[in-house]
Amino acid sequence: MIVGGGPAGMVLGLLLARDGVDVVVLEKHDDFFRDFRGDTVHPSTLRLLGELGLAEAFLQLPHQEVERLGVTTDEGEFTLADFRRLPGPFRFLTFVPQWDFLSFLADRASRSPHFRLLTGAEAVGLLRQDGRVTGVRYATADGGTGEVSATVTVAADGRDSRLRAEAGLTVREFGAPMDVLWFRLPKGAGTTAPPFGGVGRLTRGRLLVLIDRGEYWQSAYLVRKGTVDDVRAAGLDAFRADLLRLLPGMEEPVAALRSWDDVKVLSVQLDRLSRWHLPGLLLIGDAAHAMSPIGGVGVNLAVQDAAAAARLLAPWLRRGRVPSRVLARVHRRRVLPTVLTQRVQRAIQQRFVDRLLAGDRPVATPAVLRLLQRWPVLQGLPARVIGLGVLPEHVRPAPLHGLRERAGAGRLT
Ligand SMILES: Cc1cc2nc3c(=O)[nH]c(=O)nc-3n(C[C@H](O)[C@H](O)[C@H](O)COP(=O)(O)OP(=O)(O)OC[C@H]3O[C@@H](n4cnc5c(N)ncnc54)[C@H](O)[C@@H]3O)c2cc1C
Repeated sequence: MIVGGGPAGMVLGLLLARDGVDVVVLEKHDDFFRDFRGDTVHPSTLRLLGELGLAEAFLQLPHQEVERLGVTTDEGEFTLADFRRLPGPFRFLTFVPQWDFLSFLADRASRSPHFRLLTGAEAVGLLRQDGRVTGVRYATADGGTGEVSATVTVAADGRDSRLRAEAGLTVREFGAPMDVLWFRLPKGAGTTAPPFGGVGRLTRGRLLVLIDRGEYWQSAYLVRKGTVDDVRAAGLDAFRADLLRLLPGMEEPVAALRSWDDVKVLSVQLDRLSRWHLPGLLLIGDAAHAMSPIGGVGVNLAVQDAAAAARLLAPWLRRGRVPSRVLARVHRRRVLPTVLTQRVQRAIQQRFVDRLLAGDRPVATPAVLRLLQRWPVLQGLPARVIGLGVLPEHVRPAPLHGLRERAGAGRLT
């Protein structure tokens, strides 16, 4: 039983069903269409989809492929990561609305007789017996309730995980100096397009990220944590003027921001569980480790957790018994990539983002950007860290146990 139909939960559900394990995914929403969720699909995830024989179909979805990420400072444009330098067939970052990605996974998983997706059902508590978690209680929007018993319950219910709170596991909070204002800027005629598919624009006290989404630029504007109300109080005109300081020549797109309703606030959180499991319960993805948006790697880590969990759990699940040491093995396998990635994110947050947003001194172009510009071969390193991550997982190339056989089957509502 998997709680949460995000990237971690849906990939785990797909992989377990493919390995012939009966699996139920419980998702509290009725569908995958909701507010912002990270939209990046990384080369390592594309590689997993390739190993499953699904990459070609996935790349039929409307998407953008970004080969280079860059940073524009007051001194010019600098390449941060060049994915064309990666090994393998997927030498680009893909941007796909996450609801399309999740719907795709749900569609493919639902073709297996082993997969069930229970939507509109929110896990509200753990079932326990003799010190072991044995499943969950859930509630539906129409006031119904139910229980699902399981050999193992996997909490993939995101950064505000209810199950992790209920399990009483210790969370280490690392904090973050920023929150994010998230909005779209339409690509107006005659505007100067940034030179990269994904670009960070920084200047004294300001940091803006633009991601090319075809018709529009998805934009993330970083503000110091706790100052969103001040930005709003200063008014939309002041906000637009601020944006234009960063984006000269983009008057038309910026003018399209007509009210604060067009601007969403995303609270940034960075934390990690000391232990990812209890007897009968495993936590993965953001439920085990909420990631900072720096590097846009949260979806990737969630997917990699799922791949490791499927590989280590499936043989035991087929036998109907999963000892705690196997759950501990999943934690051990995934904790190193998580710790290393979070360390890099924390270092960038503390040494760079925090100082930059303080705005009390001019921002010089970081030395690392100059180095990358001077030695382009080094641009492959950030591409590797962002695109493949530490300890990328693989899936066994195997027949898709029914994933292609029963279109549309296996969905419960
Ligand atoms: C500002 C910001 C920007 C980001 N940008 C990126 C980016 O560009 N790229 C990237 O890779 N990552 C990004 N991330 C991180 C990324 O969104 C997450 O790391 C990723 O979505 C984690 O996946 P998950 O499956 O673990 O959890 P989630 O995506 O949070 O999925 C959890 C699912 O569980 C469901 N759920 C929750 N509680 C229950 C319950 N009790 N019962 C049933 N269902 C439940 C939720 O509805 C949800 O569908 C960003 C994060 C932030 C804050």
